[in-house]
Amino acid sequence: MFHLLCKTCTYRATIKFKHVVQNETLLKRNPMHGAWRRSFNAEHACLESRALPLVHHVNYICDLPENHRFPMGKFPKVLESLFRDQVITDKQVWAPKIASKGLLGCVHTEEYLSNFIGGKISEKDQRRTGFPWSSGLVQRCRYETGGTVLAGEIALQRGLACSTAGGTHHAFPGYGAGFCLLNDLAVTATHLMGVSGSKRKILIVDLDVHQGDGTAFIFKDEPNVFTFSVHCGKNFPLRKQQSDLDVSLEDGTEDKEYLSKVQEHLPWLLETFQPDLVLYDSGVDPHWEDELGRLRLTDEGLYQRDLYVLQTVIKKGIPVATVIGGGYSRDIDQLARRHSIIHRAASKVWREYGL
Ligand SMILES: [Zn+2]
Repeated sequence: MFHLLCKTCTYRATIKFKHVVQNETLLKRNPMHGAWRRSFNAEHACLESRALPLVHHVNYICDLPENHRFPMGKFPKVLESLFRDQVITDKQVWAPKIASKGLLGCVHTEEYLSNFIGGKISEKDQRRTGFPWSSGLVQRCRYETGGTVLAGEIALQRGLACSTAGGTHHAFPGYGAGFCLLNDLAVTATHLMGVSGSKRKILIVDLDVHQGDGTAFIFKDEPNVFTFSVHCGKNFPLRKQQSDLDVSLEDGTEDKEYLSKVQEHLPWLLETFQPDLVLYDSGVDPHWEDELGRLRLTDEGLYQRDLYVLQTVIKKGIPVATVIGGGYSRDIDQLARRHSIIHRAASKVWREYGL
């Protein structure tokens, strides 16, 4: 156990996480604000707060054509919902840096990044992504990816951190698909895995109702990243990739059976793979009211699922970073409230375990 004291703001961090390698390095340095901030991909770092770190950026959204079916408005409303119900305060909010082309290049091809950033995506490829190209869309996706990277970095330091976006798991190295342009989970896992020496082991727990096909493909030959996907078998994508562990559910699966599937696998995965970090995609599209899901989970079922995943991982002393994943409804307020379930569960776990 390490005790870190920030001299600028008297923040005292008790680090209990056995896998936190950087903290030993930090201890050898003078832990002043500048040094701390430089160790994160953050525009704004909330080092003084002792509560759950939330990662959010105003550029998580961009303009879309009127009546576009992607519920872009949900991102700021997730944060609003948490403020309104006094789950978090603005002191807990960290802002990520935009993901650089170099960072994105650890997963995506040079050609795709140049075309995507430069607006040279063909009509056909734009249709596959579900979005018309715009410079705002590029910026949004890059901040969203930066947000997942930052949540991962903070989790490694503090045990738990949550973004209010992320989970774009259908993006492949050379193309986007299904509302996913950049694979934030893959970029974060690859970046935090490290390149030399003893690599970190990362477990991606993807409970979005759709299979994490892009992520599965990207890590199919990478022994240090384990991809675990629980999804509806008959849902998008039609052609599935092979994750390290796929659990395919029947249409109409309800809370009890769903949770039992997660409970059946997560403990042994943690025991055998022994990850240094878990990235958790807490998609809410398994909800019974979701427009693109085909399962029948309730709000309470999603809350119990999120609590179970976080408690099971944290109890083992393994850091976890969360992203919100998919969720589709025309009622943006209700959808945002549903996406905030993960942050409500994380706040409870943060307090319970004295993080
Ligand atoms: Zn989904």
